[in-house]
Amino acid sequence: MAWKMKQGYELVVGLEVHAELATRTKIFCSCPTTFGAVPNTQCCPVCLGYPGALPVLNAEVVHFAAKAGLALGCRIARFSKHDRKNYFYPDLPKAYQISQFDQPLCEGGELLISTAAGEKRIGITRIHIEEDAGKLIHDERGTLLDMNRCGVPLIEIVSEPDIRTPEEADAYLRKLRTVLRYTGVSDCRMQEGSLRCDVNLSIRKPGEAFGTRTEMKNLNSFVSVVKAIEAEYDRQVSAIEAGETILQETRRFDQRSGQTYAMRRKENANDYRYFPEPDLGPVIVTETQLAAWQGELPVLPDARKAAYMAQYGLSAYAAEQIVSERAIAEYFEQAAALSHAPKTVANLLITEVFRLLDGEDAVICISPEDLARLADMTEDGEINNNTAKAAIAGVWQTDETPEDYVNRLGLRQISDAAVLSPLVRQTIEENPKMVAQYYGGKASVKRAIMGAAMRLAAGKANPDMMMRLVDEALDGQENK
Ligand code: ADP
Ligand code: MG
Ligand code: ZN
Repeated sequence: MAWKMKQGYELVVGLEVHAELATRTKIFCSCPTTFGAVPNTQCCPVCLGYPGALPVLNAEVVHFAAKAGLALGCRIARFSKHDRKNYFYPDLPKAYQISQFDQPLCEGGELLISTAAGEKRIGITRIHIEEDAGKLIHDERGTLLDMNRCGVPLIEIVSEPDIRTPEEADAYLRKLRTVLRYTGVSDCRMQEGSLRCDVNLSIRKPGEAFGTRTEMKNLNSFVSVVKAIEAEYDRQVSAIEAGETILQETRRFDQRSGQTYAMRRKENANDYRYFPEPDLGPVIVTETQLAAWQGELPVLPDARKAAYMAQYGLSAYAAEQIVSERAIAEYFEQAAALSHAPKTVANLLITEVFRLLDGEDAVICISPEDLARLADMTEDGEINNNTAKAAIAGVWQTDETPEDYVNRLGLRQISDAAVLSPLVRQTIEENPKMVAQYYGGKASVKRAIMGAAMRLAAGKANPDMMMRLVDEALDGQENK
């Protein structure tokens, strides 16, 4: 049964998202950040926290973080600084994390998401820079440590508590990933942990002040974010209805049971004994740098979506599908520019090409020229829509042109009434039962008769022409 919100309890969610930046080297040393390297081969005294080793800030980290901030409409601080967040954790040998506390690099942005009720703005409180910790690997040998991730640069993107449904959380995360991938500052691969999400959640009766929140850390898929929100909302509602109070705590979402479990009472900022990082100077961003970084931003998905709707008459839904990945949007723009049927280009792209694409970094194996040509052939009545789709699949990953494919298989559309009429006549002769049903008042049978006629034409008939002939044959004679 589909999950439902309970009457009288509003859901309030704010998300903290960690994205690993795609810089070549780590944030405070020159170790590489390559994912999947042999454990503990990408470390040095700085990222391992040896005594006396000093951090040097990687300028590219500020560049990338600021670019993310600009793409999300944030103000970029001309002056910000780093702070130490002190805690003991086995995967962080320094026993503190260098982060940004009271003066983050970016503040006050927003993200527009599409919801069933229309567009909604989700506020972005801040984006700050910090270092990642190492990785604990629990297996049958015990707990192993891989320090390669120590010092990989992260941005933490903190949303306002503006999210009200699990679907909005899902839409926010997808949109955030889209925008970050557009800028190229992060590959946002959730399965590699380069995008991770903490969910803060409370409930309240409508009109009341925010309730006490709990936090679920390190969710690593969109599905588990949605499931964790549903489970934790249900738990809080039951607790309140049983007269209990909600404790501010960190909880763990267990995918197998679909429940959340208390881990520890929530630590507050003062528990971390934040203080300014003495080994690093302030982060200064100049007007010149900022202007240059602004200039590097690509046209973002919202602007492209609006342009496709205005210029090509695409639906909001189709436009949104196409802008969800920058590479796809750029591909579409190339193909649309080469075609006189851009709407058909869009349609073939989001149906057949998307069906053939496999995985988020998959490459489109038909050239924009070929897709444009197929859209034009469809528009001009040379082939029908199904043939266009078959041709996309047929030339996928081959050198054959769609035209050669269509010719080789004799798939050109038949628009000649002299060829199609006998097929319609034959269909009517061979299907007396359906015809009787149709004349008996069952109008929907006409579609089945049409289908039978199309099959006789081996799918090559011009569907509009065929429909007209079927209409004429059924309604033009004895019925009148
Ligand atoms: P911390 O730094 O202790 O994690 P913040 O005040 O920075 O706390 O908030 C972290 C996240 O919690 C933000 O995304 C914010 O929107 C969200 N949040 C704050 N208060 C609530 C609340 N009452 N219910 C749900 N989410 C909340
Ligand atoms: Mg937090
Ligand atoms: Zn290092």
